Amino acid sequence: MGIADGKRALIVGVANDKSLAWAIAQELKAQGAEIALTYQGEVLEKRVRPLAESIGALVVGELDVTNDVQIGLTMSELRELWGGLDLLVHAVAFADREDLRDRFLTVSRGNFAKALEISAYSLVALARAAEPLMEARGGGAVLTLSYLGAVRAVPNYNVMGVAKAALEACVRYLAVDLGPKNIRVNALSAAPARTLSSSAIRDYFTMAHEVEERSPMRRGMKTEEVGKMAAALLSDLSSGVTGQTVYVDVGYSIVGL
Ligand code: NAD
Repeated sequence: MGIADGKRALIVGVANDKSLAWAIAQELKAQGAEIALTYQGEVLEKRVRPLAESIGALVVGELDVTNDVQIGLTMSELRELWGGLDLLVHAVAFADREDLRDRFLTVSRGNFAKALEISAYSLVALARAAEPLMEARGGGAVLTLSYLGAVRAVPNYNVMGVAKAALEACVRYLAVDLGPKNIRVNALSAAPARTLSSSAIRDYFTMAHEVEERSPMRRGMKTEEVGKMAAALLSDLSSGVTGQTVYVDVGYSIVGL
């Protein structure tokens, strides 16, 4: 018996086997859930399909979170396949590489809007589209991924920190709107992990090294640890938890010096 037995989960944000979304997919599968994945564009499709196959997950199709038609098609397909949805994982973020270095001050109006649209608004768009499918199952749980840069000024994280602050606020407002329908919404704030996205941040290794040196546990976070906490936050073990940002960062966020 797993903690996600019988649950049907849509996971958005698998790019490759290093993705945090992939760690979550593996753990949810191990805990008994049925998994559906999407991919962003043809290049990533080639990576996502074999991964999906390796855990017996469905690939629903292409989903760019800025495309409302694709969001609608994804949900229609899930309704047809499953009749509803229990769990939604949003593990999506984007900022232009040039804005993940040097001064935050220089971000352009267009790049700011794009980072916020893809990294924060997309949670709102996906949650809205998932709401009727979750209602059909009597409730559900939504989880997104954040980072400490939402609440602290982390060098080079810049506009992505602003997007994560917006994302965490979206989690709280969505939790209020969806709570009466028995749908919970939470964020998991992870420590640095080497992925496609984090490789765009200048001095990523300094961020990761700081955690190993200064965190209470004196080591880096393991991606499986994101998977395990995600499964807990998506399961009935956390039935009384909503609107929260839970840190999976080997304690780094609590340390002063
Ligand atoms: P990743 O590169 O594996 O995943 C990012 C995903 O975002 C990719 O699958 C990509 O296809 C998707 N994406 C970007 N733009 C998109 C769009 N327009 N439409 C659909 N999908 C789009 O990297 P990751 O580190 O696993 O990132 C997943 C989440 O975890 C992100 O929200 C990231 O900010 C967050 N996070 C990462 C770290 C870290 O250090 N890696 C730490 C804390 C939080």
